[in-house]
Amino acid sequence: MSYFAIDLDTKEMHDVKWFQIKRKKIALCPICDNKIELRAENSLMTSAHFWHGKNSICTSIKKNRKKYEDLPFSQLDKEAGKKLRKEIKNNLYTIFLACNALCEGLKYLEFKELIIKANEKAIWDYKGLKLNYIPYILILFHDIFYAKGSKLRDEKFYFVLEPSIKNFDDLWNIKKNIKQYIWKISPDKGVLEIIKIKQNLDPVPEWFKRATEKLLI
Ligand SMILES: [Zn+2]
Repeated sequence: MSYFAIDLDTKEMHDVKWFQIKRKKIALCPICDNKIELRAENSLMTSAHFWHGKNSICTSIKKNRKKYEDLPFSQLDKEAGKKLRKEIKNNLYTIFLACNALCEGLKYLEFKELIIKANEKAIWDYKGLKLNYIPYILILFHDIFYAKGSKLRDEKFYFVLEPSIKNFDDLWNIKKNIKQYIWKISPDKGVLEIIKIKQNLDPVPEWFKRATEKLLI
């Protein structure tokens, strides 16, 4: 189920309402690039949404979400891994802030667990890995972020990469093949947010940058 899609003509992303007003029934999924169909327009039980069709591999569908910590890698570079560990150590609080911004609040203990998971997999040794990818990788390791018990989250969500990724390191080593985005997905509502992977470690979310652009005079 998805509530956002890309218009076939303009290639722009819009929500379900826009497609209903324009009377367009077919669109493209922003994650898997497949055609999706507007459904349940006149249903009282279900609100209108986009449907992927049977047997879709799209990661916006809960059952297709991968366990990212188990994704294979193609090569290791232990020397680079040593350097990266130092860099991460020096920037650990910034990384924590970046994770925090992406998932609307992260407890220190949750953060610690994600680092432990990454330690166990020795992900720091994956060839070519750079500091700016660390916050995204860590939140991909978290199964589901619940709204319950959180003052900041309106709904539960999880993060995914596009479905075609085979090796984790393809994300940063073959950038032209793997979309440089992560998607925030609600199990009930589909895509909530499309987040561009930043090419530097920068914890400030885009909404904050936009909102504060003209704050100081
Ligand atoms: Zn899709």
